[in-house]
Amino acid sequence: MAAPSPASKVSFSIHGVGVSSGIAIGHAHLVSHALLEVVHFQVPKALIADEIIRFDKAVKTVKHDLETVRRLLPEKAPPELSAFISTHLMILQDHALSETPKQMIKAEGCNAEWALKQQMEDLVAQFEKFEDEYLRERKQDVIQVVERIIKVLLGHPSQVPLRSQESAIILVAHDLSPADAIQFKQHQFAAFITDVGGATSHTAILARSLNIPSIVALQRARTLVRDGELIIVDGNQGVVIVNPDKDTLAEYKLRQEQWEIEQQKLKRLKLTKAVTLDGTNIELHANIEVPEDVSHAKAAGATGIGLYRTEFLFMNRREMPGEEEQFQAYRSVAEAMKDLPVTIRTLDLGADKEMNPDTARTCTNPALGLRAIRLCLSEPAIFLTQLRAILRASHYGKIKILIPMLSSITELRQTLVLIERAKQSLDAEKSHYDKDIQVGGMIEIPAAALCAEAFARELDFLSIGTNDLIQYSLAIDRTDDTVSHLYNPLHPAVLQLVEMTIRAGNKLGKPVSVCGEMAGEAKLARLLLGFGLRQFSMHPSQILTVKREILQSDLPLITPVARKILGTQDIDRVEPLLQKLNLQ
Ligand code: PEP
Ligand code: MG
Repeated sequence: MAAPSPASKVSFSIHGVGVSSGIAIGHAHLVSHALLEVVHFQVPKALIADEIIRFDKAVKTVKHDLETVRRLLPEKAPPELSAFISTHLMILQDHALSETPKQMIKAEGCNAEWALKQQMEDLVAQFEKFEDEYLRERKQDVIQVVERIIKVLLGHPSQVPLRSQESAIILVAHDLSPADAIQFKQHQFAAFITDVGGATSHTAILARSLNIPSIVALQRARTLVRDGELIIVDGNQGVVIVNPDKDTLAEYKLRQEQWEIEQQKLKRLKLTKAVTLDGTNIELHANIEVPEDVSHAKAAGATGIGLYRTEFLFMNRREMPGEEEQFQAYRSVAEAMKDLPVTIRTLDLGADKEMNPDTARTCTNPALGLRAIRLCLSEPAIFLTQLRAILRASHYGKIKILIPMLSSITELRQTLVLIERAKQSLDAEKSHYDKDIQVGGMIEIPAAALCAEAFARELDFLSIGTNDLIQYSLAIDRTDDTVSHLYNPLHPAVLQLVEMTIRAGNKLGKPVSVCGEMAGEAKLARLLLGFGLRQFSMHPSQILTVKREILQSDLPLITPVARKILGTQDIDRVEPLLQKLNLQ
């Protein structure tokens, strides 16, 4: 691929959402966007049967391609990849994609590509009505499958270019399907950037597991960047620089080297204990969503699972998972973690995490509605099934129960009664479970933080869910883009609620953890340590960076500065004081 001279081109930057950190410098390879090339034409009556055969053949080819990709998945490929490809196969073979377009070809006499595109648009419109963000994003899977069929219909080659000797290649796509990405992985691309995708899209999930810098939601990268142009991808900042000038290029080469050296150094910390300079032990736990995430937690050296978001087992399906299915999932995590603690959070459905948007109740303020523990208390049969499954799994490891969204002690007591009832039902059957299982509560509503001592008295441990705590204390819907700039973990009110909760737990000798996103932000580690936090739980990819921060922290030095930050009600003073704290 010819490398255009950087000096002869106009340099500009595009901003998106960085979903996987790191810096890559290389030449752009534009992945075609077949959907844009579809045109509409009438097929003569005599040729309709042939058009249908052409469509069937294309679907067959895609099926064969996807099955081949799945079969040839490298052993070390992340487990979710095979599941992604299976999902695409399911979508491909669904009546809506493999049959309905044929009816349209017959009824309207249109070409196969056009019929497929019309059908796709109908399906996408249906997906867009879903309130649940995760389900809404699944429309991308439909688009990706359709894109594949259309590429075959249009006769686009599906191979990827060979990597040039002297420079890295950066994929620039409108969107990437997991199946595309795994093929691309074998060609060792340096990074990928896409026009669409959100932080919870499959593309983003995949990017993180492939561990290459990536940016999504760039809007028009595919139109603005030309094939072969030199680009810099800064996954840390979510910025793409196209045709950088000499100085920018030199600067980024340096940053890239530093980043790579840092990553190598970080890996060496995997087995190092997280101990501060003054000798205080800190626990660094992992947040997981599905049992397969345990491998990432272990690879990062997590000393436990601090938050297992069980609601993901309940999503994307019409039937609730039964006790046995839940038991198997919880047991597999407990066994995989051996003697290390596994904190299983009971069902946190509702608001942005609906099980099935088709049947979801509509309410004006779902985040303030019947969600999490409120939902469980109003549906005791569902709750008891989950509690029995967790308790049974506790026989196979070191499981703890975590209750989300508690707002009052009455609610907590009702919950404890149901836990007792689940235990009694197991006793009656002589089933094994850990009789001393610990029960903790999430502090994620300001009311609970203000009454943290009362909760600490009745519970074995507390875990601060800062994502919701910030949402509820600042009155900012965490799913609403228009107010996301106001979402600020450093707001003095948030800091006071967090510190107050940690203090309450420490006073009563009950462990306190932070399991919201704040825990994984390295720049907040010292502040939380200074507030007295000794347990953090975060996405596995953040553990080593936070550990490095902890290894360099000296509690006697940082505590007074953290207290000073706590003392200010002036939001503008917090950031400079935090910088000072991080320089200590
Ligand atoms: C939180 O609210 O901080 C939390 C960890 O729970 P979730 O993000 O699942 O609501
Ligand atoms: Mg929460």
